[in-house]
Amino acid sequence: MTKWGYLIGVGFLLTTAVALESAEPLEKANATQDEAATPTPTATPLVFSTQTLADLKRLQQAALTSNYAYRQVAHLSDNIGPRLSGSAQAAKAVEYVASELRAIGCEVQLEKAMVPHWVRGEETAALTQFPGMAEGTTQKIVLCALGGSVATPKEGITADVVVVKNFDELNAMPRDKVAGKIVLFTYSFDKQLAAVGHSGEAYGQAVTYRSDGPSAAARQGAVACLIRSVGGANYRIPHTGSTHYANDAPKIPAGAVTSEDADLIADLVKQGPVKMKLLLTPQTLPDLESANVIGDLKGSEHPEQVVIVSGHLDSWDLGTGAIDDGAGVAVSMEAANLIHKMNLKPKRTIRVIAWINEENGTRGSKQYAKDHEKDWANHFAAMETDGGADHPVGLHVKAKPEVRTLLKPVAAILQESGAGALDLSEHAGADIEPMEKANVPSFAPIQDGRFYFNYHHTAADTLDKIDPKNLAETSAIVAVWAYAMANAEQSLPR
Ligand SMILES: [Zn+2]
Repeated sequence: MTKWGYLIGVGFLLTTAVALESAEPLEKANATQDEAATPTPTATPLVFSTQTLADLKRLQQAALTSNYAYRQVAHLSDNIGPRLSGSAQAAKAVEYVASELRAIGCEVQLEKAMVPHWVRGEETAALTQFPGMAEGTTQKIVLCALGGSVATPKEGITADVVVVKNFDELNAMPRDKVAGKIVLFTYSFDKQLAAVGHSGEAYGQAVTYRSDGPSAAARQGAVACLIRSVGGANYRIPHTGSTHYANDAPKIPAGAVTSEDADLIADLVKQGPVKMKLLLTPQTLPDLESANVIGDLKGSEHPEQVVIVSGHLDSWDLGTGAIDDGAGVAVSMEAANLIHKMNLKPKRTIRVIAWINEENGTRGSKQYAKDHEKDWANHFAAMETDGGADHPVGLHVKAKPEVRTLLKPVAAILQESGAGALDLSEHAGADIEPMEKANVPSFAPIQDGRFYFNYHHTAADTLDKIDPKNLAETSAIVAVWAYAMANAEQSLPR
């Protein structure tokens, strides 16, 4: 296994590496370019000019020593705070990023999108009856509502808990064993898989219970549904995230208990009946108008062709959205900041996008697709950074395999900070998915995701989780990639 083998499959990305190798040494990459510059019948077509490659190296050095991205994510997470769609903080963040992008030389548009407005309320639970209890006591259960959950009645729900590991166990139960009860799914996030670098897969396996568990439980007559938190560490903190109500099932209140509380309940249920009182009071308010923030550094030769660098501006409400995904927005802003500040002239337009509503609807992404799909041919390439803020080791490439070969000179430069891997992947980012599907070459930094899900969607997604050095390394990848795409001498196969 190459040294990258431990670190791939990162972040939220549900990717499978189908090819992976280290970048070739810089000297060799340059030699290839020099040969290509001399036209011979067998020469590889020139992808990056000698000047572009020199500029990329300068840009990389500038990114590795700049703290602009860190200051941006610090402002988003500490000064503005949680940025759930529809919140005052999300609106403030839209305004803030727009004004910052203007300040660094971008032409800025706010492209409107209607977003859901879900507001968390009270969320408490306690076991009120269980084997061996001391008379007159309860056991507190630590939990949070899932995004989009409906509320319990205002006096709460008191019902027996039925524990199931997975959908098969639930569906094998007679309906009368589930009807009127609270279902708890105990399916657990695979920490071993995450520890060897496949955290995206571990997340993908467990998150189906968060999205589809409540409707599955409701079809069996359950009155509420809880899941074991989808997360990689046990600090008795619950992990929120969207749930999805299917049309063919009643909407029942849905929450995530901590992994410790899931174990506690499962243990007690083995011994005898367990009753829980559950109170959730979230509200779904009418949709609100919000916006994707779009900042263009206009191209000098092909202004109509765009290279997208992006992250999502909204975050969950429990933490301050530092790693998910203030970091992704900040490194995208940094790319434009440095390219402008260094007076580099991108031939194509570099477009920074701070997406709205990735977390509970991807309405920003959908609206962008609606507004721009006739122009996909001019969308040269797209990147989204949404895998946290830990050390990056290269690029996910969701494109034709030839694109990976064309990018080798860029990977050789990125190898300077240990980020030379080029990994052909099945997916690059939630917000750029409509472009992926339209065969726009799509990319994402490969980030170390071993610890990402310890904090993901929790109150602990805060600025201290970001090491400025790792963030600067991610900025370097994004900036170098963006400028390389903007100045590539040929278009990429799609
Ligand atoms: Zn995210």
